[in-house]
Amino acid sequence: MTGLRWGLIGASDIASTRIIPALRRVGQEPLAVLSSSAERGARFAVENDVSLSYTSLDAMLDRHDIDAVYISTTNELHAEQAVAAAMAGKHVLCEKPLAMSIHDAQKILSACDGAGVVLAVNHHLPAAGTHRKMRELIAQGAVGKPLAVRVFHAVKLPDRLAGWRLQNPERGGGVILDITSHDAAAVQALLGARALEVAAISCSQGLWAAAVEDAVVSAMRFPEDVLVQTHDAFTVGYAGTGLEVHGTEGSIIARGVMTQDPVGSLHLRDANGEREIGPSDRDDLYDVTLSAFAEAVRGQAAPIVDGQAGLQALAVALAAKESAQAGRTVAVDALLTGQLPHSG
Ligand code: NDP
Repeated sequence: MTGLRWGLIGASDIASTRIIPALRRVGQEPLAVLSSSAERGARFAVENDVSLSYTSLDAMLDRHDIDAVYISTTNELHAEQAVAAAMAGKHVLCEKPLAMSIHDAQKILSACDGAGVVLAVNHHLPAAGTHRKMRELIAQGAVGKPLAVRVFHAVKLPDRLAGWRLQNPERGGGVILDITSHDAAAVQALLGARALEVAAISCSQGLWAAAVEDAVVSAMRFPEDVLVQTHDAFTVGYAGTGLEVHGTEGSIIARGVMTQDPVGSLHLRDANGEREIGPSDRDDLYDVTLSAFAEAVRGQAAPIVDGQAGLQALAVALAAKESAQAGRTVAVDALLTGQLPHSG
């Protein structure tokens, strides 16, 4: 197989601004787009130079020349579309959050597993050269035993993205599913484990009349009592982002790395002082994800964030939502094993 040929499920901003350009850069082909509106789909196809536009998922999935689908509809649609694609034998790259409930996410994993297709979730941060370098440093023992992680991921939501994210909880709006899920994916990749429990406080602090939370702070406990704190928001314009890992022998301080672009800096601070460390590379995060996906289809590598990692990141985000709503600490295992119905 040469470059993968893709069906794009969703005429979305992210497909147009990030994924289609990345597909072309890595030699893969966006062949068709699915939209619920014939007019929007046709316009999207013309604007993005995609040959085919569909309004029927089944008709698009019937095409034998489509190898894989990229799902970037609003979040309540991911599960049904991913399961249908898997049953049609298509490999699946699904946007985050993988689904809106653990039950739906597990259905996606089972369908992909049963069909023998690759499933990956487009949490882009673990693909960043800065994050990969941090993982390498931690594995080499540069910080000793990790004790704590701090995540600064409070940003100002661009106006063009402010629709369903602020107004539609039923479509998966809110900062927790949008950004805390990314933090969870990034930290679990760094630590090689997921959060055991989460305590969160959320609120709506924007100038808009949001129907969902637009700011949240979370505290998480990971195995071996590694403590993680995160601050995520749609409301903060000038904080900048950051990621810090503090261990018994040193600290990694990363700035500007919780972002979609291959930017940001890393410093290692230990008994020898502080020095800047270069990232693994400055490759585009989506190029890295799509190249790894194609290798996974060829059976040569694992996706950057596989279905299981996507499920776990979702579980942590749902635990944060549950905690913020209920006002108590939530055990992630209880969500994953269905002992705790989440309330939103
Ligand atoms: P958009 O709002 O751009 O698109 C989502 C859906 O909204 C589309 O599928 C489309 O439906 C519909 N839509 C798009 N434009 C219009 C319009 N003008 N009028 C009416 N409906 C419209 O969403 P995003 O691109 O921001 O997010 C899509 C998914 O990608 C989400 O799951 C999100 O969490 C994820 N995401 C991931 C990022 C990452 O870096 N990993 C970054 C940004 C988003 P239809 O397809 O039926 O035409």
